[in-house]
Amino acid sequence: MTAISLSAIEKNFGATRVLDGIDLDVSDGEFLTLVGPSGCGKSTLLRILAGLEAPSSGRVSIGGREVTEVRPADRNLAMVFQSYALYPHLTVAQNMMTPLKLRDLTFAQRLPFLGPLAAREAHGSILEQVRDTARILKIDHLLDRKPGQLSGGQRQRAALGRAMVRKPAAFLMDEPLSNLDAALRIHMRSELAELHRSLKTTFVYVTHDQAEALTMSDRMAVMMDGRILQLGAPDEIYSNPQDIRVAEFIGAPK
Ligand code: ADP
Ligand code: MG
Repeated sequence: MTAISLSAIEKNFGATRVLDGIDLDVSDGEFLTLVGPSGCGKSTLLRILAGLEAPSSGRVSIGGREVTEVRPADRNLAMVFQSYALYPHLTVAQNMMTPLKLRDLTFAQRLPFLGPLAAREAHGSILEQVRDTARILKIDHLLDRKPGQLSGGQRQRAALGRAMVRKPAAFLMDEPLSNLDAALRIHMRSELAELHRSLKTTFVYVTHDQAEALTMSDRMAVMMDGRILQLGAPDEIYSNPQDIRVAEFIGAPK
């Protein structure tokens, strides 16, 4: 099954064409990385997928439904940015609850005839989902801490947790490890790969780090100047680059 489909995506900023005809199908449960040098259009493509940016032309579909005109909140995607964007004044648990509260509590509150019991039940099930997610990420002992009391890796996990509790159709990640130090980055790499194996959810992962892409992805799309030059399994691209620019990028020391 195709989880995500991008078709003939173009994006212009003023007179500059930043994406120049992108066609890409991501399979259900696949870990796909968008890789390429800085400025090639990775973030713009991810933002178009998330609905944070409108394409100049082309179509976006998620789970077989065209969503080109659908607002970000209704696409059921989780976006994880490189900056953690946790609320500093809230605990980890409260941070992780915010997206669920917005959805479930407002739902209960919109049905006042159900009374306070329904709201309390909604809150109970929210807490349960937060605890379950925190356990998977091994941050269940940190739920009462504020972001300022966490290490970089723990903050990253809390941000991931907040994205996970909604059970999104796919995770979109834009260089989520680039603010971490080298050792932690390598550690989080295998944690993310492990998380993907256990969740079996679709990941679209942006990085300019070819080593990261090579170790994590089922398939990688090598982008340059707003186009996908090659799409395939890492070993396939590595052993058979179809373009001199792909070879240069993949072979460059990191
Ligand atoms: P990447 O994530 O691969 O580094 P981006 O998608 O951020 O690349 O940017 C691709 C190109 O589009 C760059 O040349 C960048 O300067 C330009 N760009 C990105 N966003 C905007 C914007 N909002 N307005 C004008 N130009 C932009
Ligand atoms: Mg970028």
